[in-house]
Amino acid sequence: MKIAIVGSGVSGLVAAHRLHPKHEITVFEADSRIGGHVSTVDVEPTPGSRYSIDTGFIVYNERTYPHFVQLLDELGVETQATEMSFGISCDRTGLEWASRGLNAVFAQRSNLLRPSFLRMIRDVLRFNREARSLIETGEDQGGSVDEKVSLGDYLCGAGYSAAFLDHYVVPMGAAIWSADPAAFLRFPAASFVRFFENHGLLEANPKLQWRVVRGGSQRYVDALIRPFEDRIRTGAPVRAIRRQRRFVEIVSPAGTERFDRVVLAVHSDQALRLLADPSGYERTLLRSIPYQQNEVILHTDASLLPRSPRAWASWNYRIPKSRDGRALVTYDMNRLQGIHAPVQFLVTLNGGDRIDPRRVIRRFHYTHPVFDAEAMGAQRKRSAISGPNRTHYCGAYWGFGFHEDGVRSALAACDEIEGLPTSGGQA
Ligand SMILES: Cc1cc2nc3c(=O)[nH]c(=O)nc-3n(C[C@H](O)[C@H](O)[C@H](O)COP(=O)(O)OP(=O)(O)OC[C@H]3O[C@@H](n4cnc5c(N)ncnc54)[C@H](O)[C@@H]3O)c2cc1C
Repeated sequence: MKIAIVGSGVSGLVAAHRLHPKHEITVFEADSRIGGHVSTVDVEPTPGSRYSIDTGFIVYNERTYPHFVQLLDELGVETQATEMSFGISCDRTGLEWASRGLNAVFAQRSNLLRPSFLRMIRDVLRFNREARSLIETGEDQGGSVDEKVSLGDYLCGAGYSAAFLDHYVVPMGAAIWSADPAAFLRFPAASFVRFFENHGLLEANPKLQWRVVRGGSQRYVDALIRPFEDRIRTGAPVRAIRRQRRFVEIVSPAGTERFDRVVLAVHSDQALRLLADPSGYERTLLRSIPYQQNEVILHTDASLLPRSPRAWASWNYRIPKSRDGRALVTYDMNRLQGIHAPVQFLVTLNGGDRIDPRRVIRRFHYTHPVFDAEAMGAQRKRSAISGPNRTHYCGAYWGFGFHEDGVRSALAACDEIEGLPTSGGQA
């Protein structure tokens, strides 16, 4: 078959990897580079010293990324263990703490005497103990868990403290999903707990080992595309997709070309814009999983980190004085990628106006999917639009928004094309 793949992020590339050379594939990529959210930047702080810093996809683990791990094994890409610690600093209250042991939890010794902080710790332990019941009850009784209950309703109904919400749940959630903190409590409670359970976040000492690709994530992309690089067109934005009875027309700067199938490996909103003739179902489902813009800055300005170095972590979440609808997170790339450099490489999500412009290396704009009960309901109906009409959908937005979700949904799209039974591509 002649198959067009639109988008060269992890989803599009995994689909290409699986379909080539059995099928005649063409990958269309709007950008001038391949990889989408895999974006490794080479920096030379001093002549002769070179560091490859990840500004998009960084970490994965062996438990919840099985398909991605299999891909890395197949490619023979080298990886290394990393530390996934989490820290918070609050500009409103001056609170700072991190998850790297007791010395970091009580980075500010005054926290030992702060009642709201001690209540928060008690609530974390209670949540770790009790939250599982939310997903176990429904499953044990053979019924489905109510996915419509929001995290906010669940936590407030169960009497959790404001400090637990403001200084633990919301920062963790907003950081993990790069989400608007003010809206995060709309996230479905059961999905949140399931994610925390799967990622060892309900354990005081999580045994989950996180990893990074040695030398930067671009290394795995380079290995992945080697066999079909000549089938990828960069700087080739698809402008429209017209489905006909016997073929699909792809309109790009090269003109109008015919294919047997199209794999849409772009974001939900981008996919919908490309369709000349979306069905009602396509409109409804794709609109139910919107994306939100975030700015990402690679820099070396350590003032974005907590004041106390004891509270520094791999992920540093900052709560600003005034709400601005965006998560403000700084990733310590030296710690995450095991880089020993004379400068501290940091990647900050949003908050560009806080960073000393002289210390900015590069700025990017990315978008992230926004999840609520409606979005997760739409994910369960994926098979209604993926497969019919010579059209297949994949992308991280079909799961929790992470790399494994991109891989899994791409494999599901390929199963559809090859007529194999599929899990539906959901996380
Ligand atoms: C800063 C950041 C950090 C992240 N860190 C992690 C992490 O550590 N671990 C993790 O698991 N996940 C992480 N993620 C989540 C990440 O989004 C997913 O893991 C995954 O990479 C998304 O892949 P995708 O294929 O769905 O989309 P993308 O990678 O966004 O790929 C979509 C591609 O489609 C192209 N495109 C769009 N429109 C067109 C068009 N009209 N024609 C042709 N091409 C088009 C785009 O240019 C892009 O290349 C991170 C995301 C960001 C932004």
